[in-house]
Amino acid sequence: MNPENTHTKRLVVLGAGESGVGTALLGQKEGYEVFVSDKGAIADAYKKVLITAAIAWEEKQHTEDKIYNADVVMKSPGIPDHVSIVQQLHALDVAVVSEIEFAAAYTSASIVGITGSNGKTTTTMLTHHVLAAGGLSVSMAGNIGDSFAKQIAENDTPHYVLELSSFQLDGIKEFAPHIAVLTNITPDHLDRYDYKFENYIASKFRITENQTEEDYFIYDADDTVITTYLEKHPIRARLLPFSLTKKITNGAYLEEEHININIDNNQFRMSTTNLALKGNHNVKNAMAAATVSQLLKIRKTTIRECLENFHGVEHRLENVLKINNVQYINDSKATNVNATYYALDAMKSATVWIVGGVDKGNDYTELYPLVNEKVKAIICLGVDNAKIVNAFGNCVDVIRETQSMKDAVQLAYAIAERNDAVLLSPACASFDLFKNYEERGRLFKEAVREL
Ligand code: ADP
Repeated sequence: MNPENTHTKRLVVLGAGESGVGTALLGQKEGYEVFVSDKGAIADAYKKVLITAAIAWEEKQHTEDKIYNADVVMKSPGIPDHVSIVQQLHALDVAVVSEIEFAAAYTSASIVGITGSNGKTTTTMLTHHVLAAGGLSVSMAGNIGDSFAKQIAENDTPHYVLELSSFQLDGIKEFAPHIAVLTNITPDHLDRYDYKFENYIASKFRITENQTEEDYFIYDADDTVITTYLEKHPIRARLLPFSLTKKITNGAYLEEEHININIDNNQFRMSTTNLALKGNHNVKNAMAAATVSQLLKIRKTTIRECLENFHGVEHRLENVLKINNVQYINDSKATNVNATYYALDAMKSATVWIVGGVDKGNDYTELYPLVNEKVKAIICLGVDNAKIVNAFGNCVDVIRETQSMKDAVQLAYAIAERNDAVLLSPACASFDLFKNYEERGRLFKEAVREL
Protein backbone atom coordinates (compact mmCIF):
# COMPACT_ATOMS: atom_id res chain seq x y z
CA MET A 1 0.00 0.00 0.00
CA ASN A 2 1.22 3.49 -0.76
CA PRO A 3 2.04 5.01 2.65
CA GLU A 4 0.87 8.40 1.42
CA ASN A 5 -2.66 7.08 1.33
CA THR A 6 -2.53 6.01 4.95
CA HIS A 7 -1.94 9.56 6.19
CA THR A 8 -4.01 10.00 9.34
CA LYS A 9 -5.86 13.28 9.17
CA ARG A 10 -4.93 15.78 11.82
CA LEU A 11 -7.62 17.67 13.69
CA VAL A 12 -6.52 20.63 15.78
CA VAL A 13 -9.00 22.02 18.26
CA LEU A 14 -8.51 25.62 19.41
CA GLY A 15 -10.15 26.22 22.77
CA ALA A 16 -10.87 23.44 25.25
CA GLY A 17 -14.35 24.29 26.48
CA GLU A 18 -17.53 22.29 25.99
CA SER A 19 -17.51 22.43 22.19
CA GLY A 20 -13.74 21.98 21.92
CA VAL A 21 -13.53 18.91 24.10
CA GLY A 22 -16.62 17.41 22.46
CA THR A 23 -15.07 17.92 19.02
CA ALA A 24 -11.85 16.29 20.21
CA LEU A 25 -13.76 13.21 21.37
CA LEU A 26 -15.69 12.95 18.13
CA GLY A 27 -12.56 13.54 16.04
CA GLN A 28 -10.75 10.79 17.87
CA LYS A 29 -13.65 8.40 17.38
CA GLU A 30 -13.67 9.20 13.68
CA GLY A 31 -9.98 8.32 13.36
CA TYR A 32 -8.33 11.74 13.42
CA GLU A 33 -5.05 12.42 15.14
CA VAL A 34 -6.28 15.07 17.55
CA PHE A 35 -4.46 17.94 19.22
CA VAL A 36 -6.19 20.41 21.56
CA SER A 37 -4.63 23.82 22.21
CA ASP A 38 -5.93 26.49 24.55
CA LYS A 39 -4.29 29.89 25.05
CA GLY A 40 -5.78 30.06 28.55
CA ALA A 41 -5.99 27.55 31.38
CA ILE A 42 -8.17 24.49 30.75
CA ALA A 43 -10.79 23.71 33.40
CA ASP A 44 -9.90 20.63 35.46
CA ALA A 45 -13.02 18.73 34.44
CA TYR A 46 -12.12 19.08 30.75
CA LYS A 47 -8.47 18.20 31.37
CA LYS A 48 -9.64 14.97 32.97
CA VAL A 49 -11.73 14.09 29.91
CA LEU A 50 -8.78 14.70 27.58
CA ILE A 51 -6.37 12.70 29.73
CA THR A 52 -8.80 9.78 30.10
CA ALA A 53 -9.34 9.71 26.34
CA ALA A 54 -5.55 9.96 25.76
CA ILE A 55 -5.98 13.05 23.58
CA ALA A 56 -2.91 15.31 23.24
CA TRP A 57 -3.40 18.83 24.61
CA GLU A 58 -1.65 21.99 25.75
CA GLU A 59 -2.76 25.02 27.74
CA LYS A 60 -1.65 28.64 28.18
CA GLN A 61 0.02 28.58 24.77
CA HIS A 62 -0.41 27.77 21.09
CA THR A 63 2.54 25.74 19.78
CA GLU A 64 2.51 26.76 16.13
CA ASP A 65 4.34 23.68 14.84
CA LYS A 66 1.59 21.47 16.18
CA ILE A 67 -1.18 23.62 14.79
CA TYR A 68 -0.22 24.74 11.29
CA ASN A 69 0.11 21.11 10.11
CA ALA A 70 -3.61 20.48 10.70
CA ASP A 71 -5.89 19.16 7.98
CA VAL A 72 -8.79 20.80 9.71
CA VAL A 73 -9.06 23.18 12.65
CA MET A 74 -12.08 23.56 14.89
CA LYS A 75 -12.15 27.02 16.41
CA SER A 76 -14.24 27.40 19.54
CA PRO A 77 -16.91 30.09 19.32
CA GLY A 78 -15.26 32.29 21.95
CA ILE A 79 -12.17 32.87 19.79
CA PRO A 80 -12.54 35.86 17.46
CA ASP A 81 -11.50 35.55 13.84
CA HIS A 82 -8.92 38.32 14.04
CA VAL A 83 -6.50 36.63 16.47
CA SER A 84 -3.16 35.95 14.84
CA ILE A 85 -3.24 32.14 15.00
CA VAL A 86 -6.54 32.10 13.09
CA GLN A 87 -5.33 34.66 10.56
CA GLN A 88 -2.24 32.55 9.99
CA LEU A 89 -4.34 29.41 9.44
CA HIS A 90 -6.41 31.29 6.88
CA ALA A 91 -3.21 32.42 5.15
CA LEU A 92 -2.03 28.80 5.02
CA ASP A 93 -5.40 27.80 3.58
CA VAL A 94 -6.21 25.41 6.42
CA ALA A 95 -9.94 24.86 6.84
CA VAL A 96 -11.13 26.55 10.07
CA VAL A 97 -14.63 25.43 11.03
CA SER A 98 -17.00 25.57 14.00
CA GLU A 99 -18.01 22.60 16.10
CA ILE A 100 -21.42 22.48 14.42
CA GLU A 101 -19.84 22.20 10.97
CA PHE A 102 -17.37 19.53 12.04
CA ALA A 103 -19.88 17.46 13.97
CA ALA A 104 -22.80 17.58 11.52
CA ALA A 105 -20.76 15.60 8.99
CA TYR A 106 -20.85 12.58 11.35
CA THR A 107 -24.57 12.26 11.90
CA SER A 108 -27.46 11.60 9.56
CA ALA A 109 -29.89 13.13 12.06
CA SER A 110 -32.54 15.59 11.03
CA ILE A 111 -31.63 18.97 12.50
CA VAL A 112 -33.69 21.88 13.74
CA GLY A 113 -31.38 24.91 14.07
CA ILE A 114 -32.52 27.89 16.11
CA THR A 115 -30.82 31.27 16.04
CA GLY A 116 -31.69 34.91 16.72
CA SER A 117 -30.60 37.72 19.03
CA ASN A 118 -33.08 36.78 21.77
CA GLY A 119 -35.24 33.76 22.46
CA LYS A 120 -32.86 31.05 21.29
CA THR A 121 -32.68 29.11 24.54
CA THR A 122 -36.38 29.43 25.30
CA THR A 123 -37.43 28.38 21.80
CA THR A 124 -34.91 25.55 21.72
CA MET A 125 -36.08 24.13 25.04
CA LEU A 126 -39.73 24.58 24.19
CA THR A 127 -39.30 22.88 20.82
CA HIS A 128 -37.35 20.02 22.36
CA HIS A 129 -40.04 19.63 25.03
CA VAL A 130 -42.77 19.21 22.42
CA LEU A 131 -40.80 16.92 20.12
CA ALA A 132 -39.75 14.64 23.00
CA ALA A 133 -43.31 14.48 24.35
CA GLY A 134 -44.44 13.69 20.81
CA GLY A 135 -42.35 10.52 20.89
CA LEU A 136 -39.32 11.55 18.82
CA SER A 137 -35.90 10.44 19.95
CA VAL A 138 -34.44 13.93 20.09
CA SER A 139 -31.49 15.65 21.76
CA MET A 140 -30.81 19.26 22.50
CA ALA A 141 -27.39 20.80 21.86
CA GLY A 142 -25.55 23.85 20.57
CA ASN A 143 -25.20 26.42 23.30
CA ILE A 144 -27.14 24.20 25.70
CA GLY A 145 -25.82 21.34 27.83
CA ASP A 146 -23.47 18.71 26.35
CA SER A 147 -21.93 19.71 23.05
CA PHE A 148 -23.41 18.53 19.75
CA ALA A 149 -20.11 16.81 18.89
CA LYS A 150 -19.96 14.92 22.17
CA GLN A 151 -23.50 13.71 21.83
CA ILE A 152 -22.85 12.45 18.31
CA ALA A 153 -19.75 10.65 19.56
CA GLU A 154 -21.43 9.06 22.56
CA ASN A 155 -25.16 8.87 21.99
CA ASP A 156 -26.31 9.93 18.54
CA THR A 157 -30.07 10.42 18.07
CA PRO A 158 -32.19 10.73 14.90
CA HIS A 159 -33.24 14.30 15.76
CA TYR A 160 -31.50 17.34 17.25
CA VAL A 161 -32.69 20.76 18.25
CA LEU A 162 -29.65 23.05 18.16
CA GLU A 163 -29.36 26.48 19.70
CA LEU A 164 -26.98 28.29 17.37
CA SER A 165 -25.06 31.46 18.11
CA SER A 166 -23.79 33.66 15.31
CA PHE A 167 -20.26 32.52 16.21
CA GLN A 168 -21.20 28.90 15.56
CA LEU A 169 -22.76 29.95 12.25
CA ASP A 170 -19.69 31.94 11.22
CA GLY A 171 -17.71 28.72 11.09
CA ILE A 172 -19.96 26.71 8.78
CA LYS A 173 -19.33 25.65 5.21
CA GLU A 174 -21.90 22.94 4.44
CA PHE A 175 -24.03 22.74 7.58
CA ALA A 176 -27.74 22.82 6.68
CA PRO A 177 -30.53 22.33 9.18
CA HIS A 178 -33.68 20.79 7.73
CA ILE A 179 -35.67 23.33 9.71
CA ALA A 180 -34.15 26.71 10.57
CA VAL A 181 -35.69 29.21 12.98
CA LEU A 182 -34.65 32.87 13.13
CA THR A 183 -36.35 34.43 16.17
CA ASN A 184 -35.34 38.07 15.62
CA ILE A 185 -32.33 40.28 14.93
CA THR A 186 -31.34 43.24 17.07
CA PRO A 187 -27.82 44.69 17.42
CA ASP A 188 -25.67 42.49 19.67
CA HIS A 189 -22.04 41.31 19.82
CA LEU A 190 -21.11 44.06 17.37
CA ASP A 191 -17.56 44.09 18.74
CA ARG A 192 -17.06 40.77 16.90
CA TYR A 193 -18.49 42.16 13.65
CA ASP A 194 -16.35 45.25 13.06
CA TYR A 195 -19.20 47.27 14.62
CA LYS A 196 -21.20 46.70 11.45
CA PHE A 197 -24.79 45.59 12.01
CA GLU A 198 -24.95 44.26 8.44
CA ASN A 199 -22.16 41.78 9.20
CA TYR A 200 -24.04 40.47 12.22
CA ILE A 201 -27.26 40.17 10.16
CA ALA A 202 -25.42 38.23 7.45
CA SER A 203 -24.02 35.94 10.11
CA LYS A 204 -27.49 35.10 11.44
CA PHE A 205 -28.73 34.39 7.90
CA ARG A 206 -25.98 31.85 7.40
CA ILE A 207 -28.32 29.41 9.12
CA THR A 208 -30.19 29.14 5.81
CA GLU A 209 -27.35 29.47 3.27
CA ASN A 210 -27.04 25.72 2.60
CA GLN A 211 -30.70 24.89 2.88
CA THR A 212 -32.50 23.59 -0.22
CA GLU A 213 -36.08 23.74 -1.49
CA GLU A 214 -36.81 20.69 0.69
CA ASP A 215 -35.99 22.62 3.86
CA TYR A 216 -37.89 25.18 5.92
CA PHE A 217 -37.08 28.64 7.21
CA ILE A 218 -39.27 29.89 10.08
CA TYR A 219 -38.87 33.58 10.99
CA ASP A 220 -40.45 36.60 12.66
CA ALA A 221 -42.31 38.48 9.93
CA ASP A 222 -42.79 41.48 12.27
CA ASP A 223 -39.03 42.02 12.41
CA THR A 224 -38.20 44.53 9.70
CA VAL A 225 -34.49 43.72 9.86
CA ILE A 226 -35.36 40.19 8.78
CA THR A 227 -37.98 41.08 6.17
CA THR A 228 -35.81 43.77 4.60
CA TYR A 229 -32.91 41.35 4.31
CA LEU A 230 -35.16 38.69 2.76
CA GLU A 231 -36.42 41.12 0.12
CA LYS A 232 -32.87 41.68 -1.05
CA HIS A 233 -31.54 38.15 -0.54
CA PRO A 234 -34.04 35.49 -1.59
CA ILE A 235 -33.37 32.10 -0.04
CA ARG A 236 -34.03 28.57 -1.26
CA ALA A 237 -35.82 27.09 1.74
CA ARG A 238 -39.59 27.26 2.06
CA LEU A 239 -40.59 30.30 4.06
CA LEU A 240 -42.84 29.90 7.10
CA PRO A 241 -43.19 33.30 8.76
CA PHE A 242 -44.90 34.01 12.07
CA SER A 243 -46.54 37.28 13.07
CA LEU A 244 -48.40 38.92 15.93
CA THR A 245 -49.78 41.67 13.72
CA LYS A 246 -50.76 40.34 10.32
CA LYS A 247 -52.55 37.35 8.85
CA ILE A 248 -50.16 34.86 7.28
CA THR A 249 -51.30 32.45 4.57
CA ASN A 250 -48.59 29.86 5.05
CA GLY A 251 -47.14 30.13 8.53
CA ALA A 252 -48.35 31.31 11.93
CA TYR A 253 -50.30 34.34 13.12
CA LEU A 254 -52.27 35.67 16.04
CA GLU A 255 -56.01 36.30 15.77
CA GLU A 256 -58.47 36.90 18.60
CA GLU A 257 -56.02 35.63 21.21
CA HIS A 258 -55.44 32.42 19.31
CA ILE A 259 -52.35 31.13 17.61
CA ASN A 260 -53.22 29.93 14.11
CA ILE A 261 -50.82 27.91 12.04
CA ASN A 262 -51.45 26.88 8.48
CA ILE A 263 -48.93 24.76 6.61
CA ASP A 264 -50.22 23.64 3.21
CA ASN A 265 -53.78 23.61 4.55
CA ASN A 266 -52.86 21.61 7.64
CA GLN A 267 -54.22 23.84 10.40
CA PHE A 268 -53.46 24.23 14.08
CA ARG A 269 -55.17 26.56 16.53
CA MET A 270 -54.80 27.19 20.24
CA SER A 271 -55.70 29.91 22.71
CA THR A 272 -52.85 32.08 23.99
CA THR A 273 -54.51 32.47 27.39
CA ASN A 274 -53.33 29.03 28.45
CA LEU A 275 -49.73 29.37 27.28
CA ALA A 276 -47.33 28.53 30.08
CA LEU A 277 -44.88 31.33 29.18
CA LYS A 278 -46.20 34.85 29.46
CA GLY A 279 -45.55 37.87 27.29
CA ASN A 280 -45.81 38.64 23.59
CA HIS A 281 -42.27 37.48 22.93
CA ASN A 282 -43.23 34.07 24.26
CA VAL A 283 -46.26 33.93 21.96
CA LYS A 284 -43.73 34.27 19.15
CA ASN A 285 -41.48 31.61 20.66
CA ALA A 286 -44.51 29.33 21.01
CA MET A 287 -45.47 29.95 17.37
CA ALA A 288 -41.99 29.01 16.24
CA ALA A 289 -41.90 25.86 18.38
CA ALA A 290 -45.40 24.83 17.28
CA THR A 291 -44.56 25.37 13.60
CA VAL A 292 -41.50 23.12 13.91
CA SER A 293 -43.56 20.52 15.76
CA GLN A 294 -46.30 20.59 13.14
CA LEU A 295 -43.73 20.14 10.37
CA LEU A 296 -42.40 17.10 12.24
CA LYS A 297 -45.93 15.74 12.51
CA ILE A 298 -46.36 15.89 16.28
CA ARG A 299 -50.01 15.39 17.29
CA LYS A 300 -51.83 18.68 17.77
CA THR A 301 -53.10 17.76 21.24
CA THR A 302 -49.51 17.06 22.29
CA ILE A 303 -48.36 20.43 20.94
CA ARG A 304 -51.13 22.21 22.85
CA GLU A 305 -50.47 20.34 26.08
CA CYS A 306 -46.75 20.97 25.92
CA LEU A 307 -47.12 24.69 25.28
CA GLU A 308 -49.40 24.78 28.32
CA ASN A 309 -47.27 22.78 30.73
CA PHE A 310 -43.74 23.94 29.88
CA HIS A 311 -41.98 24.98 33.06
CA GLY A 312 -39.97 27.83 31.62
CA VAL A 313 -36.26 28.46 31.73
CA GLU A 314 -34.33 29.74 34.74
CA HIS A 315 -33.43 33.47 34.64
CA ARG A 316 -35.94 34.21 31.86
CA LEU A 317 -38.98 35.99 33.32
CA GLU A 318 -38.81 33.44 36.10
CA ASN A 319 -41.35 33.91 38.90
CA VAL A 320 -39.42 33.68 42.16
CA LEU A 321 -41.76 34.38 45.06
CA LYS A 322 -44.79 36.40 46.00
CA ILE A 323 -44.24 38.34 49.22
CA ASN A 324 -46.98 40.62 50.62
CA ASN A 325 -48.71 40.12 47.29
CA VAL A 326 -45.71 41.50 45.40
CA GLN A 327 -44.43 39.20 42.64
CA TYR A 328 -40.61 39.02 42.33
CA ILE A 329 -39.42 38.13 38.82
CA ASN A 330 -35.92 37.12 37.76
CA ASP A 331 -35.09 38.07 34.16
CA SER A 332 -31.33 38.22 34.68
CA LYS A 333 -30.77 36.78 31.17
CA ALA A 334 -32.04 40.06 29.72
CA THR A 335 -28.61 41.39 28.82
CA ASN A 336 -29.80 43.71 26.08
CA VAL A 337 -32.51 46.33 25.56
CA ASN A 338 -34.70 44.19 23.35
CA ALA A 339 -35.01 41.41 25.92
CA THR A 340 -35.93 43.95 28.59
CA TYR A 341 -38.44 45.54 26.23
CA TYR A 342 -40.37 42.28 26.13
CA ALA A 343 -40.07 41.79 29.89
CA LEU A 344 -41.61 45.21 30.57
CA ASP A 345 -44.16 44.55 27.84
CA ALA A 346 -45.21 41.39 29.70
CA MET A 347 -45.74 43.17 33.05
CA LYS A 348 -49.35 43.37 34.10
CA SER A 349 -48.90 45.47 37.27
CA ALA A 350 -46.97 48.51 38.44
CA THR A 351 -43.32 47.54 38.47
CA VAL A 352 -40.25 48.28 40.52
CA TRP A 353 -37.54 47.71 37.95
CA ILE A 354 -33.97 46.70 38.82
CA VAL A 355 -31.71 47.57 35.87
CA GLY A 356 -28.06 48.15 35.02
CA GLY A 357 -24.64 46.56 34.69
CA VAL A 358 -22.21 46.77 31.80
CA ASP A 359 -23.78 48.87 29.07
CA LYS A 360 -23.08 47.50 25.58
CA GLY A 361 -23.82 50.79 23.84
CA ASN A 362 -27.51 50.66 24.74
CA ASP A 363 -30.09 52.96 23.23
CA TYR A 364 -32.87 53.16 25.79
CA THR A 365 -35.33 55.28 23.81
CA GLU A 366 -37.48 52.33 22.71
CA LEU A 367 -38.19 51.61 26.38
CA TYR A 368 -39.63 55.05 27.20
CA PRO A 369 -43.31 54.29 26.45
CA LEU A 370 -43.23 51.07 28.50
CA VAL A 371 -41.33 52.66 31.38
CA ASN A 372 -43.74 55.59 31.48
CA GLU A 373 -46.70 53.25 31.48
CA LYS A 374 -45.56 50.51 33.85
CA VAL A 375 -42.57 51.43 35.96
CA LYS A 376 -43.15 53.17 39.30
CA ALA A 377 -39.55 53.10 40.52
CA ILE A 378 -36.13 52.33 39.10
CA ILE A 379 -33.33 50.76 41.09
CA CYS A 380 -30.00 50.98 39.30
CA LEU A 381 -27.65 48.10 39.99
CA GLY A 382 -24.23 48.73 38.50
CA VAL A 383 -20.81 50.22 39.04
CA ASP A 384 -21.63 53.12 36.72
CA ASN A 385 -25.32 54.06 36.62
CA ALA A 386 -25.01 57.50 35.06
CA LYS A 387 -26.44 56.53 31.69
CA ILE A 388 -29.54 54.96 33.21
CA VAL A 389 -30.12 57.89 35.53
CA ASN A 390 -29.82 60.26 32.56
CA ALA A 391 -32.06 58.17 30.36
CA PHE A 392 -34.92 57.59 32.81
CA GLY A 393 -34.60 60.33 35.42
CA ASN A 394 -37.58 62.14 33.92
CA CYS A 395 -39.77 59.06 33.46
CA VAL A 396 -40.20 57.99 37.07
CA ASP A 397 -40.56 59.66 40.46
CA VAL A 398 -38.17 57.34 42.24
CA ILE A 399 -34.75 56.41 40.91
CA ARG A 400 -32.09 55.04 43.24
CA GLU A 401 -28.58 53.69 42.83
CA THR A 402 -27.22 50.51 44.40
CA GLN A 403 -24.10 48.41 43.94
CA SER A 404 -25.08 45.14 45.53
CA MET A 405 -27.92 42.73 44.85
CA LYS A 406 -28.87 42.64 48.50
CA ASP A 407 -29.27 46.41 48.66
CA ALA A 408 -31.21 46.45 45.41
CA VAL A 409 -33.67 43.81 46.58
CA GLN A 410 -34.15 45.35 50.01
CA LEU A 411 -34.79 48.73 48.46
CA ALA A 412 -37.29 47.18 46.06
CA TYR A 413 -39.01 45.52 49.01
CA ALA A 414 -39.28 48.87 50.76
CA ILE A 415 -40.74 50.62 47.72
CA ALA A 416 -43.12 47.96 46.35
CA GLU A 417 -46.74 47.94 47.51
CA ARG A 418 -49.41 45.24 47.35
CA ASN A 419 -50.12 44.03 43.77
CA ASP A 420 -46.89 45.53 42.41
CA ALA A 421 -44.14 43.50 40.79
CA VAL A 422 -40.39 43.65 41.30
CA LEU A 423 -38.56 42.86 38.09
CA LEU A 424 -34.84 42.23 37.66
CA SER A 425 -34.34 42.78 33.92
CA PRO A 426 -30.96 44.49 33.63
CA ALA A 427 -30.71 45.23 29.85
CA CYS A 428 -26.97 45.04 30.46
CA ALA A 429 -24.22 42.47 30.86
CA SER A 430 -23.36 41.41 34.39
CA PHE A 431 -19.58 41.51 34.55
CA ASP A 432 -19.14 44.67 36.62
CA LEU A 433 -20.59 43.13 39.78
CA PHE A 434 -21.13 39.44 38.98
CA LYS A 435 -19.39 36.48 37.36
CA ASN A 436 -22.16 36.03 34.83
CA TYR A 437 -25.91 36.43 34.40
CA GLU A 438 -26.54 33.12 36.17
CA GLU A 439 -24.80 34.32 39.31
CA ARG A 440 -26.68 37.62 39.13
CA GLY A 441 -29.99 35.74 38.88
CA ARG A 442 -29.07 33.33 41.69
CA LEU A 443 -28.10 36.15 44.03
CA PHE A 444 -31.36 37.92 43.21
CA LYS A 445 -33.34 34.82 44.14
CA GLU A 446 -31.32 34.34 47.33
CA ALA A 447 -31.87 37.94 48.37
CA VAL A 448 -35.60 37.63 47.68
CA ARG A 449 -35.85 34.44 49.72
CA GLU A 450 -34.10 36.16 52.62
CA LEU A 451 -36.60 39.02 52.75
P1 ADP B 1 -31.06 33.69 24.03
O1 ADP B 1 -30.71 32.24 24.21
O2 ADP B 1 -31.20 34.06 22.58
O3 ADP B 1 -30.22 34.63 24.81
P2 ADP B 1 -33.25 33.37 25.90
O4 ADP B 1 -34.37 32.46 25.58
O5 ADP B 1 -32.22 32.92 26.86
O6 ADP B 1 -32.57 33.85 24.55
O7 ADP B 1 -33.85 34.75 26.42
C1 ADP B 1 -32.99 35.86 26.65
C2 ADP B 1 -33.79 37.05 27.11
O8 ADP B 1 -34.64 37.50 26.05
C3 ADP B 1 -34.72 36.78 28.30
O9 ADP B 1 -34.73 37.94 29.07
C4 ADP B 1 -36.05 36.50 27.65
O10 ADP B 1 -37.13 36.82 28.50
C5 ADP B 1 -36.01 37.39 26.40
N1 ADP B 1 -36.68 36.79 25.24
C6 ADP B 1 -37.04 35.49 25.07
N2 ADP B 1 -37.61 35.31 23.86
C7 ADP B 1 -37.59 36.52 23.23
C8 ADP B 1 -38.03 36.98 21.95
N3 ADP B 1 -38.61 36.16 21.06
N4 ADP B 1 -37.85 38.29 21.67
C9 ADP B 1 -37.28 39.13 22.56
N5 ADP B 1 -36.86 38.76 23.79
C10 ADP B 1 -36.99 37.47 24.12
